[in-house]
Amino acid sequence: MCLFWQVIIVGAGPSGLLLALMLAKKGIPVVILESAPGLDKQPRATHYASPAIHELIRAGVMDDVRAAGFHPDSVVWRKLDGTVLAGLDATIFEGEPDRMTCLPLDKLGAILYRHLEKQETARVEWGSKVMDIGQDEDKAWVEVEKADGRKRFEADYVVGCDGANSQVRRCLFGKSFPGKTWDEQIVATNVSADVFT
Ligand SMILES: Cc1cc2nc3c(=O)[nH]c(=O)nc-3n(C[C@H](O)[C@H](O)[C@H](O)COP(=O)(O)OP(=O)(O)OC[C@H]3O[C@@H](n4cnc5c(N)ncnc54)[C@H](O)[C@@H]3O)c2cc1C
Repeated sequence: MCLFWQVIIVGAGPSGLLLALMLAKKGIPVVILESAPGLDKQPRATHYASPAIHELIRAGVMDDVRAAGFHPDSVVWRKLDGTVLAGLDATIFEGEPDRMTCLPLDKLGAILYRHLEKQETARVEWGSKVMDIGQDEDKAWVEVEKADGRKRFEADYVVGCDGANSQVRRCLFGKSFPGKTWDEQIVATNVSADVFT
């Protein structure tokens, strides 16, 4: 018998999808509330280091991730003129199951989601923007804005996996959460180019 009634996860990014999959595989009912209408396809992460790979192995998705991606021998950061800034030599991890693996995040998300869809105790509510959270002695809840109005979802636990601008974090800590936003901004995009030699 499952001791959990339900866990709510806010956000269907890699953190939310991975957590949902791992909980659902233990038979724990889980609902992901995601503000977007589907998986995020914007270019972001591509390289996953050993601690992330370790968790992907535990979630049972690594065979699919390896089949879709590849293991790089190295990673390097350069200036636009090709000058090397810094790099990692990944060959020292040769043969290790949790060695660094490359796969664009949108493809990793699709793999996680495909595995999650097979779990009977998991579901994703797309187009569900979490606005507020609360709790009492018995349960936790979230207030959600959907196309057809505001709804309330309740669970044993609410987990905030809603990224860098987390509404869950704001509700919990307001402005007292430690950290700072850097002035610099970056634009991420995928390009095709001749590789520097
Ligand atoms: C350019 C770039 C390159 C990167 N490269 C790497 C890399 O090579 N390797 C690496 O390990 N990491 C990399 N990262 C970091 C990595 O992408 C993030 O750490 C990762 O995406 C965080 O995952 P997450 O699930 O916590 O949050 P996110 O991916 O941000 O997902 C959060 C989800 O929550 C949803 N959400 C937000 N607010 C609400 C709300 N109020 N209600 C409901 N849903 C909500 C969002 O729509 C989103 O789907 C990179 C990031 C960037 C920007």
